[in-house]
Amino acid sequence: MSARASAVRIGLVYPELLGTYGDRGNAIVLVERCRWRGIPAELVEVRADEPIPDSLDVYLFGGGEDDPQLMAADGMLASREAIVRAHAGGAAVLAVCAGFQLVGHRYEAADGAVLEGIGLIDMITRPGPDRLIGEVVVEPSASAYWGASGPPPRLTGFENHGGRTTLGSDVEPLGRVIAGGGNGDGAGGDGALAERFVGTYLHGPVLPRNPELADRLLEWVVAPTGGRLPELPSPLEESLRAERLRVASAGRLRSWYQARRLARG
Ligand code: GLN
Repeated sequence: MSARASAVRIGLVYPELLGTYGDRGNAIVLVERCRWRGIPAELVEVRADEPIPDSLDVYLFGGGEDDPQLMAADGMLASREAIVRAHAGGAAVLAVCAGFQLVGHRYEAADGAVLEGIGLIDMITRPGPDRLIGEVVVEPSASAYWGASGPPPRLTGFENHGGRTTLGSDVEPLGRVIAGGGNGDGAGGDGALAERFVGTYLHGPVLPRNPELADRLLEWVVAPTGGRLPELPSPLEESLRAERLRVASAGRLRSWYQARRLARG
């Protein structure tokens, strides 16, 4: 791991608009997991009336209801070049739910509004027949994008969205949905995975619930030449993950029994 000249700049974009279900926690986890390892890090909040700078190391776009999402879309479009330039230059991006929808080409809301996304990822989102709400478990794709550490273990999170996302044919999902809805377009995936990019429907927030995912994002910016971060035991987070995995598999078993009972009449 090479020494950095400056602190890792963790950018929390539009927290007053894109912050459903405590997505700010993603920023706190990234900053703290750097500091616990002796790596200087700072939290940079980009308020909704400010341009998004191209100088951040990690860009965090959180979830939001349709109205704040509409406001966020304008600002993201206005700063599209800065975001694309920063990402191409080595920054990592985590985009959750509404934020994920806005990194695609377009988001069509249930009321017919069409929001143009920044087109960082080849995907579109359309309204579904209902909302996908509840616990989600995702098995991450075995992709080269994860780098030397390989894919993180099964991810857990919480979803609440109406949109259904379809990825372009060359775009990998973040992983396969084991429980819950995810992208909800029938392809069985959640989110998207690309070079230094994770998109997902998982709230929770997702990084406190999945510390190894947090470390993969950090490795992309702190150890871009394939180095690994020193291990950081996270017993509290791991026990929460194990408990959530148990709850999700109990839920799956319950729906399986219910479906069997219904089928038998
Ligand atoms: N407004 C979006 C939808 O319902 C995103 C919701 C969210 O971020 N939780 O699809």
